[in-house]
Amino acid sequence: MNSYANTISFPLHTPGRTAKASPADVRRNNRSLVFGLLFPNGQLSRAELGRQTGLSRVAISGVANGMLEEGLICESGYDASASAKGKRGTLLSIDTTRLHIISVDLSQEHLVQGAVTDLLGTPQQRMEMALGPDNDINADMIVQLVDQLRTDIDSDAIIGIGIAVTGVVEDGVIRESTVLGWHDLDLQSMLERRFGFPVTVSNDVVCSMLAERFFGKGDKSMIFIKIDRGIGAATLIDDVTVIGQNHAGGEIGHISLDPEHGRPCPCGKRGCLETTVTSPVIRDRIRHAGTPEQQLDVIRASGEELASALAMPIGLMDINDVCVYGPPDIVNETFLEATQRRIDKVTSSQFHKHTTIRRCQVGSDIALRGSAIDVIRHYIEAK
Ligand SMILES: [Zn+2]
Repeated sequence: MNSYANTISFPLHTPGRTAKASPADVRRNNRSLVFGLLFPNGQLSRAELGRQTGLSRVAISGVANGMLEEGLICESGYDASASAKGKRGTLLSIDTTRLHIISVDLSQEHLVQGAVTDLLGTPQQRMEMALGPDNDINADMIVQLVDQLRTDIDSDAIIGIGIAVTGVVEDGVIRESTVLGWHDLDLQSMLERRFGFPVTVSNDVVCSMLAERFFGKGDKSMIFIKIDRGIGAATLIDDVTVIGQNHAGGEIGHISLDPEHGRPCPCGKRGCLETTVTSPVIRDRIRHAGTPEQQLDVIRASGEELASALAMPIGLMDINDVCVYGPPDIVNETFLEATQRRIDKVTSSQFHKHTTIRRCQVGSDIALRGSAIDVIRHYIEAK
């Protein structure tokens, strides 16, 4: 659909949505194209948008005027380079002043974090709730947090609520979240009934990957790994998130690399990645290591384990960019070097360019920001 392979495009398609060519779809598609060229930091004139999208001047004008009125984009200066014909084009960019998103991150241990963000997912107001020792989160807490966040904002300026959650999410329903102890919880419908705004519920690793894509250094095709209480992954191929047939794409924690001799896992198998490459497991091993050198060996071994797990998908999908998010005491230079060395050793081939294992560029707001991007994406596609 989008043939402008060299531009950074906003992910156009929510996986699973089928393409029909009604006038409303054409309008949606044009909006997506224009928004995608401006998001996050683009500044283009209508003429340049027309060149890059292939849309007529009239079509661009219609789309741009609609988006200006809605508060999605704003006029932000003049195109100095286009003065040859005497008429300078007005530049358009994303408007960060009028519309807002309420974003909530349920993926962290010990706290629930919420924020009001602008259209770039930048938090403008924040709120946190500490969790009890059992880390229990219930729906009432989310409602309370959203209620507090929306107090000072005009309801018309809120385009939606985004929730980032650990686990398998299918169309707003949390099918399975082991960490939260939730099964088949329709959080989306519940919150939409309560607040009357569109609600997007998404896996926290997918959200984080989107934030890295747009605000970090993420490639349009990448594997994103998050190491914390567990280990999760997300994959982006040509700017489309890989969701999978069971909405469980990226759920790699209970894939075993050593089913015969690995450590027993609570899931019943042996040698799952969750028994080797998670923060609690690695920290426990470091505590039990004798010397500083042995502690580094623990980190290296974990990096090598991750590399062994990733070698096949890297080759299978021909991926150059692997981004790892995790606490700095674990995802450190030693870890990344060991992962990189092992990847180089097991994947080197004349067909592939060098695959780089690197640390995530976006900080601790990553899931909040990504969840906001997810809301924007749905908003642009829905109208
Ligand atoms: Zn397991």
